[in-house]
Amino acid sequence: MLALLDKSKKILEEYTLCDYCLGRQFSNLATGTTNKDRGISIKLVLAMSSTVEKEQVDIELLQNLSKTGAIFAKKTLKKLGFTPEETQKCFLCEGKIEELEELLQEIIEEINEYEFESFLIGSVLDNNFYVKENEIKDKFGLHGTEYLKQEFNREIGKKISKKTNKRTEFNTPDIIIECNPFSSKIVEVKIRSAYIYGRYNKYIRTIPQTHWDCRNCKGKGCEKCNFTGKNYAESVEELMAKTVLEVTKGEKAVLHGSGREDIDVRMLGSGRPFVLEVKKPRIRKIDLKKLEEQINEEAKNKIKVNNLRISSKKEVVKIKTKSQQLSKKYKAIVEFKNDVSDEIIRKIEEILKDITLNQKTPTRVKHRRADIIRKKKVHEVKCKRIDEKHIEAIITCEGGTYVKELISGDEGRTEPSFTEIAKNSAECIELDVLEIEE
Ligand SMILES: [Zn+2]
Repeated sequence: MLALLDKSKKILEEYTLCDYCLGRQFSNLATGTTNKDRGISIKLVLAMSSTVEKEQVDIELLQNLSKTGAIFAKKTLKKLGFTPEETQKCFLCEGKIEELEELLQEIIEEINEYEFESFLIGSVLDNNFYVKENEIKDKFGLHGTEYLKQEFNREIGKKISKKTNKRTEFNTPDIIIECNPFSSKIVEVKIRSAYIYGRYNKYIRTIPQTHWDCRNCKGKGCEKCNFTGKNYAESVEELMAKTVLEVTKGEKAVLHGSGREDIDVRMLGSGRPFVLEVKKPRIRKIDLKKLEEQINEEAKNKIKVNNLRISSKKEVVKIKTKSQQLSKKYKAIVEFKNDVSDEIIRKIEEILKDITLNQKTPTRVKHRRADIIRKKKVHEVKCKRIDEKHIEAIITCEGGTYVKELISGDEGRTEPSFTEIAKNSAECIELDVLEIEE
């Protein structure tokens, strides 16, 4: 105990420290208190001990305490007939810990326009504050103690919490406020995205899942894309985003699908799982049932969403990785070059039962995907004749299977295929996803 007081006395001989900054040097001692209280307690005990010996009052110590603003030291000095030293600025925080009002106003104004439940303060300090604090720590052998940055984070956090009634959260805060307490300025405000899970249906064969930047201008807008910056006027993503951004007052919405269907493929059944990420939402508490109705009304006959619920960034990763393992059921209308016999139709069903395909990356997507061989399982194919050259095939297979190529064979890049088995050139002329496994 004496060591602690002795150290503090020596620190104050060289540095003027406020209650917070002195207390912080011993923040590893005693829990359930604050650095400010630690600082005051140490100073008070020092002031008391300086006057224990009536004949030998430690005036120097009292003056050092007086410099830090300790009222009891000033009063004691006066009583003893001395003029107490003026209060000086704290060597570490320059008194800023007690002068946060301007910054707090700035922060409140900035975050007021966002709906949030939790936040986190990150104060940004110049390097010289670390240098100064390390100087003290090294000189007096103070280890494992906090730095000024944490003190600011906590003090600003406590005050913002009191003013807004919201809580500090370390893992996934809705808002992160980076600020500089010395300039009383905000450095950056980061708003956590909102995530909405659901499943979507797509009823038309002309829209992609997400918006595609125009290849010519890369989204800037040119004559080729009619200055829209896009290849397609609409997408599943944009049809949802329109309503969602209106409701959440967010900046941008990004659709993360569990796999994707081609533009000309419809998505039927209970729909494809997705997570819609809303960037910088101003509103977070959303009536999802109502949102669902609004989207479905707005995008009627094009897409439909169902089962909306609040989701997370984690789920985005999950649905993306899971997509490859989920089995999918398709309906394909297949056209053969020459007439196809019942015998051949049975043969297709027989051979394509519980088989593993070797699929090289299709020619049509080779320009944007790695050219590798994928092994994909086909569980079952059920065929129904339409006429001499056409059949309807219900295909159940693993996620990520290129179904159009399973039919055409893609010039031998997919093996086996309808074309190979029938020895008759086959082509998928219409495709629907009927079901994606839950
Ligand atoms: Zn200080």
